[in-house]
Amino acid sequence: MLDFQKSRLKMVEEQIVGREIRDPRVITALKKVPRHLFVEEALQSQAYNDRPLPIGEKQTISQPYMVALMTEALKLKGKEKVLEIGAGSGYQTAILAELAQEVFSVERIRSLAIRARQLLYELGYFNVEIKIFDGTYGWTEKGPFNAIIVTAGSPNIPQPLYEQLSIGGRLVIPVGDLHTQDLFRITKTEEGMKKEDLGGCRFVKLIGRYGWEDE
Ligand code: SAH
Repeated sequence: MLDFQKSRLKMVEEQIVGREIRDPRVITALKKVPRHLFVEEALQSQAYNDRPLPIGEKQTISQPYMVALMTEALKLKGKEKVLEIGAGSGYQTAILAELAQEVFSVERIRSLAIRARQLLYELGYFNVEIKIFDGTYGWTEKGPFNAIIVTAGSPNIPQPLYEQLSIGGRLVIPVGDLHTQDLFRITKTEEGMKKEDLGGCRFVKLIGRYGWEDE
């Protein structure tokens, strides 16, 4: 019998606190959310390793450190309305649900969206809604959002996502080519777009109208 909680706390100490993640709320959320339940049983023993893992449909659950880094960059205090593009396993969605008021997530692959919805419901995250659609359009009816997170790599910043940010809102998104991207934090201000480069990263493709073309 594996002690998942012990592995999770060790993961947070070594991979999250041991690097530069400082937001106490982010650290608490990573200690709490049972990441092993977001991967298939055969991979559960690897769920707290320092790497992404396959979740089916050629997609991956992001590395824990990347989830922490992106979440911290959103600067959530608890009252926000958040949009996520790419629910995938639903792990990042659960972390957001711990830290914000309401989470809207869009996932283009039906089977992943259905599984994530079910698991999040079972875990008691009732402040989450998942829609099956091309998330590069955002989710107009639910906006504007205080924070938007894109968990797939994009060739550029999808215009609808920037439009759906409120003033002062933050968009965290990997932008680059198919092999490497840079993580950007875009802030919408009265004076226009503020852009910060948070460093290199590597994500699966954001596929859609304002992302990469589907093959
Ligand atoms: N946060 C997820 C990451 C999953 S990988 C996790 O940690 O589990 C990225 C996800 O983005 C995949 O599930 C993929 O299907 C989804 N995706 C890619 N392009 C998309 C789009 N245009 N709209 C919605 N989801 C998209």
